[in-house]
Amino acid sequence: MEPRRRRTKLNEDDYVLVGTKVSEGHQNYVTAYNMLTGIRVSVSRCNAKVKSPLTDADFRESHKLAFDISGNELTPSARYDFKFKDYAPKVFRDLREHFRLDPADYLMSLTAKYILSELGSPGKSGSFFYYSRDFRFIIKTVHHSEHKMLRLILREYYDHVKKHPHTLISQFYGLHRLELPFGHKVHFIIMNNLFPPDKLIHRTYDLKGSFLGRLTAKDKVKQSQERAPVLKDLNWLQNQEKIQLGSIKRQVFLNQLEKDIKLLQRLNLMDYSLLIGICDLTLGGSGPRGLSVFEPKPEINNNPTSLASPRLNRGSSLAYHTGRSHSPTASSFTFYHDLGGFQATDESNQLIPEIYYFGVIDCLTNYSWVKRLETEWRILETQDMKQEKLISAIPAREYGERFLKFIKLEAQPKSKV
Ligand code: ATP
Repeated sequence: MEPRRRRTKLNEDDYVLVGTKVSEGHQNYVTAYNMLTGIRVSVSRCNAKVKSPLTDADFRESHKLAFDISGNELTPSARYDFKFKDYAPKVFRDLREHFRLDPADYLMSLTAKYILSELGSPGKSGSFFYYSRDFRFIIKTVHHSEHKMLRLILREYYDHVKKHPHTLISQFYGLHRLELPFGHKVHFIIMNNLFPPDKLIHRTYDLKGSFLGRLTAKDKVKQSQERAPVLKDLNWLQNQEKIQLGSIKRQVFLNQLEKDIKLLQRLNLMDYSLLIGICDLTLGGSGPRGLSVFEPKPEINNNPTSLASPRLNRGSSLAYHTGRSHSPTASSFTFYHDLGGFQATDESNQLIPEIYYFGVIDCLTNYSWVKRLETEWRILETQDMKQEKLISAIPAREYGERFLKFIKLEAQPKSKV
């Protein structure tokens, strides 16, 4: 009996939901291992501290830990030599609590098995994306300028999240830096994965409200078994997609988006996207590589302002439960409420069997001098001022206006068009 049990366990550990498993021998294994070790030690240490009201100094705080093979009184021994820096630990502890993450659960998801999967670099920035084994969290490596930006805006982000708990902006759970021998530094953030592990996302769009270079080529648009290709603004228009929301849900969605964009404009941030994953419930299908799906359990909706479908709350045949939808995170926030997302409605506010998984991602790019230079260069290159509208590197205020204009136009039931 025992050997067979052990064998099954090994097989389970071999399997990751998306991307490539980062295991021994993988070129980024040491980086991933060190990231997780640093997270485990620094987050547990912070969790053990007594809570007190946050001060301005907490937003600027950073702690350095040095790991080596032998360990010392401050750090346990590790397999490799590296340094780890934890930024604003108390602030992020508070944010995780706000986002209803159980401290033990967070660490378990990330570090219990030391298994991550890597998605290479899906965007243009060259960032690496690592998924926790249960697909709930994303570790994204970021450029130093994005790292500095998050530190700079942390207070405003924190205040915004507290004031608008249903924000669509990425949920940031941690900001860290790894320093490998020879001084190579890797900055990274930990954030929520907008997509659930247990549903097949049939269409994925990354929308910026800009058209320049915003087309995913046809040859890339072939259904992969693992995940749908990420389509862009021009694909959206070509496919005549709409965010199908009746008046009630549309108002809630656009009100929140306007507040979020106002913040990003004030912080001089641009280049962000609305990431939308669409799950067509009539097509069904389980999540990446068929993660098992469980039978529904009745869920009590304690939130009187919730817009979630009463049908889903009672556990319709469409509603199936997963580890994720059990989590308070899923049920406490408007846009993550319906099977972990936001269910579409028609003009009469009746439910449509489609779930949107959406959020505003990649929002740490400042309209810096680099972007200004890029704008000037492109205007000169096109020799046509009208083309300016198409250019993605535009100042934060205009970027936000263009973004909102596009989304507002596209957020309505198809039949109205
Ligand atoms: P670029 O520079 O091309 O804009 P980037 O390298 O900064 O991109 P992002 O825009 O943050 O990367 O993300 C690239 C892709 O990774 C997204 O289109 C999406 O498919 C996936 N992704 C990013 N953030 C999330 C998230 N929070 N949840 C789920 N998927 C995500």
